[in-house]
Amino acid sequence: MEILHVSAECYPVAKAGGLGDVVGALPKYQNKLGHIAKVVMPMYRTKYLFDHEFEVVHKGGFAVANYWFDYTIIKETSQKTGFDLYLVDIYGILDREKVYGYDDDSFRFTAFQIAVVDWLSKWQHQPEIVHVHDHQAALIPFMMKHCYAYNHLAQIKTILTIHNAEYQGWMGWDKSNYIPHWDPWKSGMLEWGDVINPLASGIKCADKVSTVSPGYLEELRYSANGLESLFEYEKGKCIGILNGIDTEVWNPEIDHYIEANYGLEDLGAMKAANKKVLCDQFNLDEDKPLIVFIGRLVGEKAADLLPAAIGDSIYHLEGRMNFLVLGSGESWIEHQLQNLRGHFMGYYNAQIGYNEKLSHQMYAGADFLLMPSRVEPCGLNQMYAMRYGTIPIVRKTGGLKDTVKDFGDEGGYGITFQNASVWDISHSVYRALELFDQEEKFSAIRRQIMQIDNSWEKSAEIYLNLYHS
Ligand code: ADP
Repeated sequence: MEILHVSAECYPVAKAGGLGDVVGALPKYQNKLGHIAKVVMPMYRTKYLFDHEFEVVHKGGFAVANYWFDYTIIKETSQKTGFDLYLVDIYGILDREKVYGYDDDSFRFTAFQIAVVDWLSKWQHQPEIVHVHDHQAALIPFMMKHCYAYNHLAQIKTILTIHNAEYQGWMGWDKSNYIPHWDPWKSGMLEWGDVINPLASGIKCADKVSTVSPGYLEELRYSANGLESLFEYEKGKCIGILNGIDTEVWNPEIDHYIEANYGLEDLGAMKAANKKVLCDQFNLDEDKPLIVFIGRLVGEKAADLLPAAIGDSIYHLEGRMNFLVLGSGESWIEHQLQNLRGHFMGYYNAQIGYNEKLSHQMYAGADFLLMPSRVEPCGLNQMYAMRYGTIPIVRKTGGLKDTVKDFGDEGGYGITFQNASVWDISHSVYRALELFDQEEKFSAIRRQIMQIDNSWEKSAEIYLNLYHS
């Protein structure tokens, strides 16, 4: 079967979060299963571009609101990613350093989608499945079915995977001229809540819809940032498929980012070596349990609770642990986390920004990983942490609920809590300290979590069954 993934992110080319990890891994595993999976994404000006070689495979153009845009489709020639990688270049629109965060993002991603559909319409070698990811690619099923220039593509089946339903790509109707001429009777297929809602359009128009965990799909029926009734109405074509992790990239035995590689045999000593490097770098005490947070500093991740929860834990638990935070996001949370360093020197530190290498070092060197998320469609961090023998402390929500079982329950191995509150986090930190002090149990749990199979093999099969259906 031939599948074309369309996404705004793909590791290692450009990644802002879990979407990049998934689109960088799933096609690789689908190819291993004997299928042909390819990826097309925007050609940002990231470092990857300058280190690799490419060839032009197609040139075309399209008109939007009386302006003409030329686009170029470029293919990477090295095949190092494990799949065919295509990049869409549009001068002045996509050729920027960052993935998101520009005022004209709606236009940028609509133009990207038009270029993809236009290319598809001219490509002799059409895929059987077009698999689009999140709102930045979710208008494609509509374009392939209802835009006059492209509706000859309507027989190709489309799948939408929702990695995060909080972001929907809303556009006012004044932007309707961004989308190529469509059958006016189908305007309702673009709309939700009086605006153009690309994610809602994708849910309505795609042949199948998946979310990145079964738990998240359940939650979306009552909490989906306004789309609850749509999820209820379309539930017949929705399925929750848990993300996997790329065990080639996330493997403590060969990870070139970390100080000391390790497996089950030398877990204790080598993890201690990784912890020492981290503690030396951030002025922390390697003899105390190290609890880390890695992620976007936004309300969804409950990052706003971190300053109070860290302060409260250090104060009430008399500094028996250390904290290290890596993240970027809302500036007021960044400032609070930076300011906290002055109050708890030697007990807490933070690096504000995005740092892939440091994230690997933290998964390897930490004892516990904290994820108090209010919303967590799947969450990859807890799975990476477990692969590196780092015990997850998570709020029971979405994919976290599906992947972490409390060590107090039979066969359990993590620490879970109910509410996104300072009290619940501090209490879980207390439980982490108790566990850390029970050396035998602590070390048995570490060994147990390193052996959990969260790889893509299983989920890649489920996606293939979905395509076949
Ligand atoms: P989301 O996609 O909602 O941000 P996920 O848990 O699905 O959350 O994926 C997060 C991914 O982004 C993980 O690979 C994590 O290690 C990475 N990540 C998040 N923030 C940072 C950061 N500041 N530096 C490095 N990696 C980060």
